[in-house]
Amino acid sequence: MTDPLTGDVREVIVIGSGPAGYTAALYTARAQLEPLLFGSSIFVGGSLTTTTEVENFPGFPEGVDGPVLMENMRAQAEHFGAEMIDDDIVSVDLTGEIKEVTDSEGTVHRAKSVIIATGSGYRKLGLPHEDELFGRGVSWCATCDGFFFRDRDIVVVGGGDTAMEEATFLTRFARSVTVVHRRSALRASKVMQNRAFADDKISFAFDSEIAEIKAENGMLGGVVLRDTVTGETRALDVTGLFIAIGHDPRTELFTGQIDLDDEGYIKVEAPSTRTNVPGVFAAGDVVDHTYRQAITAAGTGAAAALDAERYLAAAT
Ligand code: FAD
Repeated sequence: MTDPLTGDVREVIVIGSGPAGYTAALYTARAQLEPLLFGSSIFVGGSLTTTTEVENFPGFPEGVDGPVLMENMRAQAEHFGAEMIDDDIVSVDLTGEIKEVTDSEGTVHRAKSVIIATGSGYRKLGLPHEDELFGRGVSWCATCDGFFFRDRDIVVVGGGDTAMEEATFLTRFARSVTVVHRRSALRASKVMQNRAFADDKISFAFDSEIAEIKAENGMLGGVVLRDTVTGETRALDVTGLFIAIGHDPRTELFTGQIDLDDEGYIKVEAPSTRTNVPGVFAAGDVVDHTYRQAITAAGTGAAAALDAERYLAAAT
């Protein structure tokens, strides 16, 4: 049997092909570190490939198509020498001085440093039409999509700080916002709750959940709410549904090897991108509870590359 271990020990391996990963690859390539980036087998380019218009990434006066932006980021990193493999890393051993990451074919790739940029996924309701109506009335990001919902009636699902923030933000555009929460009390901090309660445009449906998402001519045609106590249902006539029930960072691979916080995000020594394991850095939404934007992910991707560069320089 052939030993799958490749001969090379790279300076740096990047895991993840979103703005954080591509930016880390660009910076490390320009630093002559010949990075190798693994960018997933089915989801190359990260979260922005699932959206159309991105209007808040600087440098594009009229906005830019999400997939185009990601293709350009990739092309730029490749132009400066980054190597890309569209495959998943399925296991890692980050403990030693030389890190090992294994791809889906069982090949082990080795490097002196690793930058983790695996992102996070929005938690879904798991209802029919949810995916198909995404970008057609259903959204997971008010900052990204709120602008497209002027004078609309919107429902926001969730009871935490994010849901309150999304609801409050959306009142800038929406005619009305209904917050739907499964329990009788919100989980959000008092400050966020009070801000939402004080807003005339926001109303609350407590002890309620979304029972049905209605599709109408390929667009969101309303939702059906179910009372979680009585089981009664009622229709809500909305054309916007924002789901704010949390995110799951993609960190299963790293559990037990690097420190994660209570919600599974990678802990870093902020403002650096250093994890608790020497030579392992993390950037983007896999770290970030708060901002979760393409530009902030790209920013921390750059920081991770600079941190890795310094680590490698100090090690030689
Ligand atoms: P991601 O973009 O999530 O990329 C992570 C990548 O790593 C993915 O491709 C994933 O498949 C890959 N990966 C994970 N595990 C592995 C593994 N084991 N091996 C190999 N690869 C792996 N932000 C804005 O600023 N403006 C917007 O308009 C905007 N619109 C959005 C619209 C939608 C629908 C969504 C979902 C998000 C939007 N965002 C927007 C948020 C933005 O996309 C994210 O903040 C940003 O993409 C995070 O970048 P990232 O590099 O950390 O992670």
